[in-house]
Amino acid sequence: MQVARSKIVVLGTGGTIAGTADTPGEHLAYRSAQLGVGQLVAGLPSAGDWTLETEQVTQIDSKNMDEVLWQRLAARCAHWLAQPEVRGIVITHGTDTLEETAYFLDCVLVADKPVVLTCAMRPATAQAPDGPRNLADAIAVAATPGVQGVLAVCAGSVHAAREVSKEHPSRLDAFTSGDAGPLGVVEAGHLRRLRAWPAAPASTPAAERMAQAVAQAVRWPRVEIVLNHAGATGALVQALLAQGVDGIVAAGTGNGTLSDSLQAALRQARERGVAVVRATRCARGEVLPHAGDLLPDSGGLSPVKARIALMLDLLVTRAT
Ligand code: ASP
Repeated sequence: MQVARSKIVVLGTGGTIAGTADTPGEHLAYRSAQLGVGQLVAGLPSAGDWTLETEQVTQIDSKNMDEVLWQRLAARCAHWLAQPEVRGIVITHGTDTLEETAYFLDCVLVADKPVVLTCAMRPATAQAPDGPRNLADAIAVAATPGVQGVLAVCAGSVHAAREVSKEHPSRLDAFTSGDAGPLGVVEAGHLRRLRAWPAAPASTPAAERMAQAVAQAVRWPRVEIVLNHAGATGALVQALLAQGVDGIVAAGTGNGTLSDSLQAALRQARERGVAVVRATRCARGEVLPHAGDLLPDSGGLSPVKARIALMLDLLVTRAT
C-alpha cells in the first residue's frame, strides 16, 4: 500500500533566520542562531495538505559550518528522506555558507524528494523580517509535486545547489544563480518554473559509494583554497605542503590564470602527490580549458564548491 507523502520536515541549523537583536531596527549587530526551529515554524500559517515536523540539527552561525556538521546534517537528511510519509525537507541555514552546504548535500544525498535550504538576511526580531516569508516559500517548494533534489530559496527565487552563490552582503535578495539565472520563482506561495531543472541525483553505485564514504568518514581530507592576485607568490602553497595538505584549489584570476610563481608552486605540490584544481575568482562564468593548460580546471565549479568536490573525491578514493 502506498503511504501518502504528508509530512515536511524542517531541520534547523541556526543562522540569521534564527537570530535576535536588541531592537527591531538593528539589522547588523545581532546574534545569529538564537531561536529554535520550532519557534521559526510556529508563526507560519498552515497552508496545505501536509504536517510539519521539526528537528534542531545544530545551532550555529554558518560562518562556522564544517565537514563534521555536514556529515551530521547529511545523515539526518538521509534518515528523513527514507521515511515513506516524508514529502520533502526544508533546512533553515545561515546565508554565509548556504551555497556550500547545498552543494555538499547535492553531492552526497540520493533522493527522489526535495531538500530545500532557506535563510534570512535580517534577524527574526527585525521590524520587517524576511525569514518567515522565505521559510513559507521553501515549504511551498518542498511541497510542490514533482520537485526533487537540493535547492535554495531566498527572496522569492529558487536556485539549483550547483549554481547558487551569495553575491551581496546585505541586500535581502542576496543570492544569484549567475549566468544560468534562477530555476524558478515563488509567487503568492506557488512555484513557477522558469527553465529546465537539473535531474535529481540518481541512485547509482557511485552515488551509493559516496553516501557510504561520507557516513563513515572519520578524517576528512584537508583541502585549502589559495587565491591568485597581483603579487601572488608560492609562499602559501609551500606552507600548506609543509603542513601536509591533501588538496589545493587555486582561485585563479580570469580564465583560471595564475602568477608564474604560484603556478610553479602548485605544480610542485602536484608532483608531491597533492591534488590541485584551478577555478576562477570571477563571480560569473567558468574556466574554459584549452591546449597547454598545466593544471586541471574545476569543471565550472566556483572555488568553494570545487573545494567540496575535491574533498569528496579524495574521501571516496581513500575509502575504496
Ligand atoms: N552570519 C550569518 C550566518 O551565516 C549570516 C546570515 O545568516 O545571513 O549564519
